[in-house]
Amino acid sequence: MEEQMFREEEITSELMHLASGEGLGSLFLQYQPIYDLATDSICGFEALARLRTPNLGLISPVEFIPITETTKLIIPLGETIMLQAFRFLNLLRGQGSNHISVSVNVSAIQLLRHDFIPSLQRMIKAMQIDARYLVLEITESVFASNYQEIDRILGQLQKIGIQVAMDDFGTGYSSLARERELNVNCLKIDKFFIDKLMVLSDDEAISGDIISMAHKLGHCVVAEGIEHERQLAYLRRFHCDKIQGYLISRPLDEEAALALAKEQLTSHPSSN
Ligand code: C2E
Ligand code: MG
Ligand code: MG
Repeated sequence: MEEQMFREEEITSELMHLASGEGLGSLFLQYQPIYDLATDSICGFEALARLRTPNLGLISPVEFIPITETTKLIIPLGETIMLQAFRFLNLLRGQGSNHISVSVNVSAIQLLRHDFIPSLQRMIKAMQIDARYLVLEITESVFASNYQEIDRILGQLQKIGIQVAMDDFGTGYSSLARERELNVNCLKIDKFFIDKLMVLSDDEAISGDIISMAHKLGHCVVAEGIEHERQLAYLRRFHCDKIQGYLISRPLDEEAALALAKEQLTSHPSSN
């Protein structure tokens, strides 16, 4: 327990230094391709935060994002993450990958701050981003509390052209009955359901039902954590729109992600 406390203290101190611009480690993004099953090409990348400290090495966001949330450091660091993702989006445009979007994960603390939208708009303007190619991912559990307030903010985001995805769908508490009115464009089916496709028959699995429900409500569907061909075959059979997972690619460093998108310019010219 003591060791765990030391570790947390060290991560917190590193994050504080990074937020004030003088950290010794680094906070950077990796990008995981999102693959469109209709065009068989990459249609987006999800930006995933990584922390590296001199003593602890690489730290998972599952460990450090909750620390940024309890310390509120997610506010300044969330801006750094957003700006890095915008820079990546501009690099994609610069190389001619014109229709690839970038998804950024956003915590409830960020979303619920009074100046979240104005500051996002300032960054979009400063970096000359086309908001239509920005997707913000909000985990489903966030909707359990502050449902109406969150939905109102999401509606405002959509008004300025930003797309909204509900992340980890199926693990939170949002009621299917309310889904229709929700201001989201896309549902991301959690890996939990995708893992089940390895042990259940088509008749037993419910991912197909989630997909058809989402379609009826006008949402597009991304399946997360695809590792096996069997899962991919099921998702094609049940008309899932997009997939993300190690079967397509692990999260990549910026340079490798750009190279992959560039490769597609020649192999799939129509989808760029
Ligand atoms: P998420 O947004 O649901 O991201 C998907 C996670 O699943 C990523 O983990 C990704 O690397 C992993 N993944 C993707 N495909 C596969 C697969 O085929 N198999 C397996 N086993 N895993 C796969 P990662 O990068 O560790 O991120 C974990 C979570 O941390 C994210 O879940 C997200 O909730 C949070 N996170 C990451 N970056 C940020 C950020 O910038 N801001 C905020 N607020 N949260 C972030
Ligand atoms: Mg996500
Ligand atoms: Mg997820």
